Amino acid sequence: MTGVPLELHHILDAQNRIRGVADNTPLIPSPYMTTVAGYDFLMKMETMQPVGAFKLRGAMSAVMALPDEVRGVTCCSTGNHGRGVSFAANLRGMKAVICMSELVPQAKIDGIKALGADVRIIGTSQDEAMRESQRLCATEGLVEISPFDDLHVISGQGTIGLEMLAARPDLQMLLVPLSGGGLAAGIATAAKAIKPGISVIGITMERGAAMHASIHAGEPVEVPECASLADSLGGGIGLQNRLSYPICRDLLDDTILVTEEEILHAMQVMFYEDRMVAEGASVVGQAAMLAGKLPKPRGPVGTVITGRNLDMPTFTKLMTGQDVRIGDLEMKGRLYGA
Ligand SMILES: *Cc1c(COP(=O)(O)O)cnc(C)c1O
Repeated sequence: MTGVPLELHHILDAQNRIRGVADNTPLIPSPYMTTVAGYDFLMKMETMQPVGAFKLRGAMSAVMALPDEVRGVTCCSTGNHGRGVSFAANLRGMKAVICMSELVPQAKIDGIKALGADVRIIGTSQDEAMRESQRLCATEGLVEISPFDDLHVISGQGTIGLEMLAARPDLQMLLVPLSGGGLAAGIATAAKAIKPGISVIGITMERGAAMHASIHAGEPVEVPECASLADSLGGGIGLQNRLSYPICRDLLDDTILVTEEEILHAMQVMFYEDRMVAEGASVVGQAAMLAGKLPKPRGPVGTVITGRNLDMPTFTKLMTGQDVRIGDLEMKGRLYGA
């Protein structure tokens, strides 16, 4: 249907490559969200991955598929993909060099260094970091692992869709945080292969929604990169995008945008009602539901809680109603329930 070479069997192969390391996170109900929504609201807890985010699935899938003679791997990353690649490379005893932009929070940089990888900070956009990563491939013989535009990476992320539908075959709608679209492309491919009638909705922040803008433009476009509470959703999709763009364009039922205020509210709901710590990028599904932006589903809805790798001092301020400044973003503090 999409004219791209991703099929269910790729995702089943990826499931074998990640087995026992990056799989089987729990799918749990949110009693609070279920009450507010009026339908079963389930959360796939990718925060419980050993690196605190789902990106380990794609990274494991890609690194484990490499031939033995590869000298090492590199990537550019807002943080979580870098962590995943570092962890997977470390498991395989391979060198990893991670390139990132100055927008990336210090906590994420420290997390990656702790996994034994080299970190290079280049420029102020994901695109600049991407060019450095490509240069390392040419000059140092490393293999680049794209955070989203790679068949093995997308297949790895797609295993989330297999697990969600295995646990709850009655799911009718999946809410997927959307940035470069590897996660949404993989999940949509898996879910629709198993259950063609299911709807899959990509959700992202208003500030810098590259995939949403590209789908509406009919081709990959660049959008200005802005600071956001959902920092893991920042970055472009690449003007040369080969895989995640066409798959998202063809398989997503819709893309929905949420504001910074809606993301903050959802983070507070997650913390005060569900009692869990999750990144802004992780709770855009709840944000869309709580803002009344979702179509009415025919039954249970599942969302992916994609990661927990926050800057903790900032998170503490956000949860206690204090004002926060992240780059050019000024967030007015708001006390939960006030
Ligand atoms: C990477 C990431 C996403 C988005 O995934 P894409 O494949 O780029 O669309 C969402 N949430 C978190 C926490 C991430 O790290």
